Amino acid sequence: MSDRAIKIFVDFDGTITKEDVGANIFLKYGEREKVETIIEKIRDRSISALQGWIDLVATMKGVSFSEIEKYVEEFEIDKSFHEFIKMTTENKIDVVILSDGFSFYINKILQREELSHLKFYSNHLAEVNGKIVPSFPYTDEECNLCANCKRNHILSLSSDDDFTIYIGNGNSDKCPAQFCDYIFAKDSLLKFCESERISFTPYKSFVDVKKKTEELMAKKRLKKRHQAELKRKTVYLQG
Ligand SMILES: [Mg+2]
Repeated sequence: MSDRAIKIFVDFDGTITKEDVGANIFLKYGEREKVETIIEKIRDRSISALQGWIDLVATMKGVSFSEIEKYVEEFEIDKSFHEFIKMTTENKIDVVILSDGFSFYINKILQREELSHLKFYSNHLAEVNGKIVPSFPYTDEECNLCANCKRNHILSLSSDDDFTIYIGNGNSDKCPAQFCDYIFAKDSLLKFCESERISFTPYKSFVDVKKKTEELMAKKRLKKRHQAELKRKTVYLQG
């Protein structure tokens, strides 16, 4: 393996889990029509992700937080994620989960899977004085595309010498993936990479991701992606 440290950033909903847990909570407990409209607006970017989450939370009436906590327990993960984590742990490769969803269900699902040692950054949702309240500790002042700015986490958790890998599937992965050297993409992230001519590797499950990552590790030299280096530079120049 090269001297370059590999750092892996991975989305949660629809990437580690089979389905989008966040969206499903609101589809189940919110007013369906309103929820679908809001999700559409977030996807076409006519409202910010942060505003979208606030609006979605407002569509839920008469549901207790404990009921939602119970509901999220049924969401499965891609079982091959375990093998992937075993491999990265054995090779001392950092894996960080970056999610524009909420910490309570990420915690619950990781605990159930005995993966609670994994680091993650996400938004929060909690019951405060009988009300369900979202909070957003990692917004970016200048950009409102996501509530949790995944790009900022990547920039602060990796150095220019590291070889960064991104694994994702959706809207909130489109920006951060561009700052990484190697992209695993499916669903709307895949379509985005295709249309923007960003080089990526398609994947179906972590079986594919693990295999390809092992191939990368076996390489003598890992070549960084030039467009990602340029992207990183523009952020530093903006200060
Ligand atoms: Mg996702």
